[in-house]
Amino acid sequence: MSPAATSPIRVTVWGENVHEQKHQVVRDLYPQGMHRCIADGLTEAEGITACCATLQDPEHGLSDEILDATDVLTWWGHAAHGQVDDKIVERVQRRVWEGMGLIVLHSGHYSKIFKRLMGTSCSLTWREAGEKERLWVCNPGHPIAAGIDRYFELPNTEMYGEPFGIPTPDEQVFISWFEGGEVFRSGCTWKRGQGRIFYFRPGHETYPIYHDRNVKTVLKNAVRWARPDGQTWKDTCPNVPIEQAPEPISKKGGSLHAPGEEGYK
Ligand code: ZN
Repeated sequence: MSPAATSPIRVTVWGENVHEQKHQVVRDLYPQGMHRCIADGLTEAEGITACCATLQDPEHGLSDEILDATDVLTWWGHAAHGQVDDKIVERVQRRVWEGMGLIVLHSGHYSKIFKRLMGTSCSLTWREAGEKERLWVCNPGHPIAAGIDRYFELPNTEMYGEPFGIPTPDEQVFISWFEGGEVFRSGCTWKRGQGRIFYFRPGHETYPIYHDRNVKTVLKNAVRWARPDGQTWKDTCPNVPIEQAPEPISKKGGSLHAPGEEGYK
């Protein structure tokens, strides 16, 4: 087993932390913020460490140093997607390409980072009626579904329905049915560069979703699945000089580049 597989998984739980400040119903459910509840759920498991970062922190709590020390980033946002600095979004995207795992939660479907990595609208339909959600396991052999029965239910949720404007997922782990009749692809995976991405739908702020036992199980599973495999690829587009070609070649034709010039121009 490689050292990467035995060392603790370092998770950074990112929370927008806006509803907790503005709405008593959210504060009552999450007195220390949704991010702290998510982090506490993750660290119930041995081998996972979690720290929190919020929109209000300098650099949104996502400095180069913090991201370099993050194996998996979780992202919850809703009311303030537009306030997330584009420079930070680019930084997170680069880290995903290099191998950092990313778990996007609920209304994070409309975050800058998710839309950027998906390259599509990430639009969906929705309704806030406190209705029941039944999450069906599409693939019982998938590690993210470990410990979950054929399905689990959440008694009160916000409905998200199809069409969901995402690229076809690499793997479909959960699909949801709602009391009102809609269905939704509620657990999906992709790979972007070296990084693994999981979108997980539940998480509306006015219900105790992140206190739910099954939700906590899925998030722990997802963190283990999304951890980097130990390989990183910093794709800086290096030049390979003629004399370093695997087979001897000589230069033909013209060029815009000086010998030994670094970087893509
Ligand atoms: Zn919501």
